[in-house]
Amino acid sequence: MNIQSLLRENIRNLKPYATARHEFSGVAEVYLDANENPFRSDYNRYPDPTQKKLKEKISQLKNIDPGKIFLGNGSDEAIDLIIRAFCEPGNDAVLVTEPTYGMYAICAAINNVAVKSVTLTPKFDLDEDAVLNAIAPTGKVIFLCSPNNPSGNLLSKEKIIRVLTHFNGIVVLDEAYIDFASDEGFLPVLQNYPNLIVLQTLSKAWGLAGLRLGMAFASAEIISILNKIKYPYNISSLTQQVVLEKLDAIAEKNNQVQQILAERSSLVNALQTLPLVKQVYPTDANFVLVKVTGARKVYNHLAEQGIIVRDRSTVVLCEDCLRITVGTAEENRKLIDTLAKL
Ligand SMILES: *Cc1c(COP(=O)(O)O)cnc(C)c1O
Repeated sequence: MNIQSLLRENIRNLKPYATARHEFSGVAEVYLDANENPFRSDYNRYPDPTQKKLKEKISQLKNIDPGKIFLGNGSDEAIDLIIRAFCEPGNDAVLVTEPTYGMYAICAAINNVAVKSVTLTPKFDLDEDAVLNAIAPTGKVIFLCSPNNPSGNLLSKEKIIRVLTHFNGIVVLDEAYIDFASDEGFLPVLQNYPNLIVLQTLSKAWGLAGLRLGMAFASAEIISILNKIKYPYNISSLTQQVVLEKLDAIAEKNNQVQQILAERSSLVNALQTLPLVKQVYPTDANFVLVKVTGARKVYNHLAEQGIIVRDRSTVVLCEDCLRITVGTAEENRKLIDTLAKL
C-alpha cells in the first residue's frame, strides 16, 4: 500500500503553513510572535495547533498513539480533508453505500469529486462484491458507516475486512455510533490495515455535539497528511479546554450510554405494539429506523404535537421510514403516547 502515490499531486508537494506556535513551541516569558492582543484574558492567545494535551488524553482513552490521531471541527472536517487529500476534482471518485450519512456525498460534490453509489442489501448490510466491482478505476476512497446511519445496524465485520484487504485505496469507516454498539469496532485492529481511517466523534455518546470535536484514527502517515492540510487553528481554545475536562467524566458518559441503551429497548418494545408500525429495524445505535403506515403523515402529525423525528421515507430502501433518536424516558413516553392516539 503506497499512500503517497494515492495522494493528489499538489497535496503531495505541498509545504504546509507554519504558524508562530509551530516555529517556537516551548514556554517563554514574552510572546511577540503572533500579533495577538497582549492584554491577558482566557482567549487572547491562539490555541495549540497540534492539540498536544488533548491528543495525549484521547490517546490514553482509546489506547492509540497520539501520532495516529487527527482532531477536527467535527467528523465532517475529517471527511472533507480526506476527499481533498486523495481525490483529484473532476477526475477521481468516492464510493458510498446507500442509504447512509449524507455528508460523504455532499463533501464530494463541493469538491467536484464524483460519487459512485452502491445500495446496501435489504437488511442494510454491505454488498462487498458490488462495492469492489464499482470502485475501479477512478474510485480513491470508500466510505462505510457502522453502525450505519440511518439504518442503525453494524455492517458485517468480515465484509468490511474484505473491502479493506481487496481495495488499493482509502477505506473510511465512520464509527460515530460505536459507543452504543455491541461490538468494539476497528480501533483495536487499526494497525492491521494501512488503508483504514476510523472516524469517531464526541457529538453522540459523549454529549458534546455543541463543542465540535471529531476524531480520525489511522496510520501516522495518513494522519500527518490530514494535519498538513487542515486549518492551522482548527480546534478553538475553548473546545480544547472544555473537552479535556469532559473526558474525565467517563463514568458519567458510560452511565448515560447505559440509560440510553435501556431506553432503546423499551422504545423498541413499545413501538412494536403500535398498529401503525410495520417494522422496527435492529439497531446498534442511539436511534431506531421504523417503517410505518404513511410516514409523511405520521411525521407531520408528530411535528404538530411538537415532536420532531427524521423523515427518511424518500431515501433508498427506507420507504415509509422514520428515524427516531432515543430520548429521555419522558420524551420517549410522549412519543409513544402521541403515536398511540393516531
Ligand atoms: C452524527 C454523525 C457524525 C458526527 O459528525 P460531527 O461532525 O462529529 O458532529 C458523523 N458520522 C455520522 C454517520 C453521523 O451520524
